[in-house]
Formats: sequence, structure tokens, C-alpha cells
Amino acid sequence: MLLQISDKRTVQDCPQGGVMSWTMLLACLRGGDCRVGLFLTSALVLSQALASTLLDHNGHQGHPLHSTREGRPKLLLLSFDGFRWDYVDRVPTPNFHALMEEGSKVEQVENAYITKTFPDHYTLVTGLHAEAHGIVGNEMYDPDLNASFSMEEPSAYEPRWWAGAEPLWVTNQKQGGRSGGVMWPGADVEIGGVYPSRYVAYNASVSFEKRVETMVSWLGEGPGQGGVDFGVLYWEEPDESGHNLGPESPLMDVVIADIDDKLGFLRNELRKKGLYERVNLIVTSDHGMTQLSEDKVIELDKYLDRELYTWVDKSPVVGILPREGKFEEVYEALVDANPNMVVYKKDQIPERLHYRHNRRIMPIIVEAKEGWSLTQNRSTGPHMLGNHGYNNSLPSMHPVFVARGPSFRKNFIKSSMHSVDLYPLMCHILSVRPRPNNGSLSRVRDLLSEPPSPTAHTPSGGRAQTPSYATALGAFLGFVMVTGFLIVVVKQVTLKQLPGKRLGNREMVQPLLQKDLHL
Ligand SMILES: [Zn+2]
Repeated sequence: MLLQISDKRTVQDCPQGGVMSWTMLLACLRGGDCRVGLFLTSALVLSQALASTLLDHNGHQGHPLHSTREGRPKLLLLSFDGFRWDYVDRVPTPNFHALMEEGSKVEQVENAYITKTFPDHYTLVTGLHAEAHGIVGNEMYDPDLNASFSMEEPSAYEPRWWAGAEPLWVTNQKQGGRSGGVMWPGADVEIGGVYPSRYVAYNASVSFEKRVETMVSWLGEGPGQGGVDFGVLYWEEPDESGHNLGPESPLMDVVIADIDDKLGFLRNELRKKGLYERVNLIVTSDHGMTQLSEDKVIELDKYLDRELYTWVDKSPVVGILPREGKFEEVYEALVDANPNMVVYKKDQIPERLHYRHNRRIMPIIVEAKEGWSLTQNRSTGPHMLGNHGYNNSLPSMHPVFVARGPSFRKNFIKSSMHSVDLYPLMCHILSVRPRPNNGSLSRVRDLLSEPPSPTAHTPSGGRAQTPSYATALGAFLGFVMVTGFLIVVVKQVTLKQLPGKRLGNREMVQPLLQKDLHL
């Protein structure tokens, strides 16, 4: 698997501490005391090297020294599956609009290709395109495992399918936080040997209200009581109704109004627990929805013998696995077969889709144009009036995005973002060191009430004290080491004047570095 990282971060040292120290050093050297200057130089170099080592590459403190996260704002990520970005303006949605006024809204979120539930939910919590996190569809075939995955089968709970990435709930826990998952895809799976600190196994029959009460109770508890500081919460609507009714149906108005009521229920529950001003709330979705038509159906049986290939996943983007030796025959049969579908050889899938570099992406991909459905034969479906999964450049595929809370700007509208950017944003809010990802904090920093500087990746606000602790510790250790070093040097110089006695000094310095700091 090729991991593509668009926003490579650089090592950040501690300039604010360093400037003062180097100034003092230069003054000292100008004063002519070379021994003191040499001592200070050594101490500074060592202390800053140690401090840099104790800090991670984004200026965050590393795990071994991670301090308590008491008092920091909590974060709740809520997904209403299939909530298209423009639903909020279709019927009165007072709760969504209240969140926009109290916080920030993004009008167009370009989600990950393919715009299906499992790939996009995993993108939101990893910051990775589907090709990088490995959940490339709601249904997949892995040639190395020689196994198939379906979100509706027990295979969805097998850790091996999820192991290509580490979701934020796991990373948060590894860095001292506690996470909670309620029905979010993958949040009841052991990923990298870790479950969320608190989670509920997926059960579609559990009401939204019950899910909210569970999550809000976790957010309200302290860490000692088993509470969480990061939660992911999922609800199946309006996706299900969007599929059944079609997004253009007037009946969808009722569904959207009901979702707004549900958001109102969450707001009230947070208020009742005194959490409303302490929790950062992000309300988004995996994808949008578009209207289908019975007249817009592409039947592959018309163009290709079923015996020549295996069909993977569902309309509107389908993987085609040709039988051995049949690749060209299958491709040629499909490529110009129907003007309402696009057929890609895997290595010709456009780079902008970031959907190429994974063995679970099939050798040929067929993508229906918006509103068209792919099937082998009409008799086998799909029988739906709405669907998603289409190209992520289509506005109809884009999800809603609103966010409010102490970390977010108030009454702010941003025109666009990429869904991969949500991950570094959430890491920043939680003060979690991000895993390598395809997102960029700099592209979404304007959503924050206290944005980090364009170059620094150090968390803002109350978290700024964390790096200075590491700096101080590094300085102290450096001072101790240099002092020890000078004692040895002085002793050695003294002993060298005595005949027949030779001492090395390597063992005096190196073991302290290697052993005590676990570098
Ligand atoms: Zn759906």
C-alpha cells in the first residue's frame, strides 16, 4: 500500500526558548569567558536536542511525557448518514441554523472517492483517502487475503480489514485520552489491538435518543469515572429514507425536519449536563444523495458474459475482477459500451480521485454517471430511488458540515474544504499528535477561534505549556550531562598526568542518553 501524504510537516523546535538562550550565550562569549561559553554551548545543544526529541514532529509532546488533559475541551463528532449539504436550506432547520450562528459552517465538503458509507466514515477519522486507509468500498475483495468484506456481514468486524490505518479514537487513547464510539463504522472493531475506551456494538434498532444519552453520559463523566474526551456518534438517517424515497421526494422534507429535531435533542442533552459550552460539536456526514430513475439503468449483461469476471461492490461504482487471462477482453467489451458509464483500468484512474494504490481496488473500475445505476440485469436491482457513491466532484455527493464550541469560530462560513482535512483539525483540538495523513490543518485553520500560526503546528491556548515542560526537562538533563562530562574531562586530564593509567570516557555519557530516554 502506498501512503500518500500531501502535507508533510517539518520538525518544529522551540524557537521561543531558543532565541533567549542563544542571545545569552553570544553575550557570554563576547565577554571572553571561553570555558563558560563552551559549557553553555554544550548544555544548550544537548538541552535543545533533548527537548526536540521529547517533542514530536509537530511540536506536540510525545506519549511518555503526555500530561493530563483535564480541562481541555472535549470533542463530539456526529454523522447523520447521507445528509446532503443543501438539506439544511430545504425546510426550516432551526437547530442546524443555530449551530451555524454559534459556530462555523462549510458549504462544500469534497469527500473521499468513492462516496460510500464505510470508505468515507473511515476517511473522517483517519484523514486518509480510501486507497491509503484500505476501506475502499462497502464491499471489497482482498486478493492477498483471498477474502471478501461486506458492511452487512460478520467480515465487517474482522480487524484485518481495518488494519491499514489507525482511527483517531485509537490514537487519542494511545496519547492519554479516552474515546467513545456509538455505532460509528469500525468503532466496535478491534483495530491495532485496541477498542474504544467505551463503545456500543452496532445495533440498528437502538434509537437516536438512546445513542445520544449514552454518549452524553460518557462525555459528562471525568476520566476517573470512565468518561471520554472524544466521541464518535452515528445515525443511519436520512440515508435510508434518501435511498427509498429519492432525495427529490417531498416526503424527504419530513425526514430532514426530523433530523433537525434529533439535533435539537442532542443540544438539549448537552445543556442539561452542563456540557454545551465545553464540548466541541461537529455535525457532518459521509456523503450526499442523488435522484435515480428507472429509465437510467445500465445492464452489464448486455455487453459482457458474467462468466468472464467477478462483480465487486454495488452501483454506482463497481469493481470488475476479470478471470485470469481475460483482462483485455473484459476491458474492451466495457470501455465504449455505454456513454453513461466511465470505465477505468486501475492504473488509469485519475490521480485526483486518490483511488488507485491499493490491492483491494479491482483491476477495472466502472463508474456510472450521476443518476445512472449499474446492474448486471434489471431483475437483480438495484431497486432504489436515491443513491450515492458517484464522483466526489459532484455537489450532490457532498455532505453537510457545521461545527460549534470553544474551539470554533462563531458565525463563520467557509466556502469549501476536503474531508481529509477534518482529521488534522480534530487532532489539533484534542492536542493529539496526528498520524501521517492526507489532510492539512493549514487549509482549515480559519475555522478555529484561536488558529495556530501558519507555520507552527503547536496547539494553541492552554496547551502551549506542554512543549515548555519538555524544553525545561531537556535543559535540565542537558545540564546534568554536560556537568558530568566536564567532571570526567577534568579527571581525565588530571589522570593523564599520571603515568601508566588510561581511562575512556564513553561509558560515562552514552548510557544516560540511550538507557534513560528510550530513544
Ligand atoms: Zn447509503
